[in-house]
Amino acid sequence: MLISLKEALDYAEQNKVGIAAINTPTYEMLLAAVRTAEQHNIPLILQHAEVHEPINTIEDIGPVMVELAKRSTAPLVVHVDHGESYDYVKRGFDVGFNSAMIDASRLPYDDNLALTQKVVALANEYGYGVEAELGVMPGREDGSQASTGTSNETLYTDPDLAQSFVRDSGVTALACSFGTVHGLYKAEPNLNYNLISTLREKTGVPIVMHGGSGLTDSEYRECIKRGVAKINYYTYADKASFEAVQNYLAEKPETFIFSDLTTIATKAVQQNLNNLVGILYGKS
Ligand SMILES: [Zn+2]
Repeated sequence: MLISLKEALDYAEQNKVGIAAINTPTYEMLLAAVRTAEQHNIPLILQHAEVHEPINTIEDIGPVMVELAKRSTAPLVVHVDHGESYDYVKRGFDVGFNSAMIDASRLPYDDNLALTQKVVALANEYGYGVEAELGVMPGREDGSQASTGTSNETLYTDPDLAQSFVRDSGVTALACSFGTVHGLYKAEPNLNYNLISTLREKTGVPIVMHGGSGLTDSEYRECIKRGVAKINYYTYADKASFEAVQNYLAEKPETFIFSDLTTIATKAVQQNLNNLVGILYGKS
């Protein structure tokens, strides 16, 4: 069934869990994410990032995401991830997405705020939630431009700016920069837990973690404890499916059945997400 971003985040804070927000640009990722949510009967966010348009457009994969979410026994949100323009968010809403992130974090503060306000006004017409971003995280959602993870690449989110940004925009949740990076970690992430606590307190809204792949169990738990309620996750699940296919091909180089590979990929993502869900929701 479809639930709102606000309902998912309320669940997270009431139950002291982190909601997994999984990018599902392929059908294999999508199926694995939905099955994981159903298996554990947990709320989960299915999302499509604008940077994944070359894999599948939001008009192609979006209606499939919405349909699977509606008929699922699990409570699911269908969310535009890293929408870079008002028009892209609108395209998501047009195919049935019920939540969106507008990412104007690379623009100057005033421009970021103005675009976010415009998107919130649109979302309010539907009663949908909006996530925005303040502070710049290195790397990109598709795992390209991987980062070294050193703190000097990161512009940490300023708590006072975050406070006025949330107040003046009316967003449901705020993606902040506190030491995570998009893509694969090449060095240890340098997480600033006190900053998360301060941001949660000052903004009054749940904090979103981007670059949620590859942290340790205790790092995830501590971030959730401090105020992170939504955790974006993609790169390591994608990597798990790739490695499963690679291993299969090494064992059976003579295979010519492509659907065997998609089945293996789906199962590998499910296994990877099961592990994630164990950490974020305390399920196993
Ligand atoms: Zn992100």
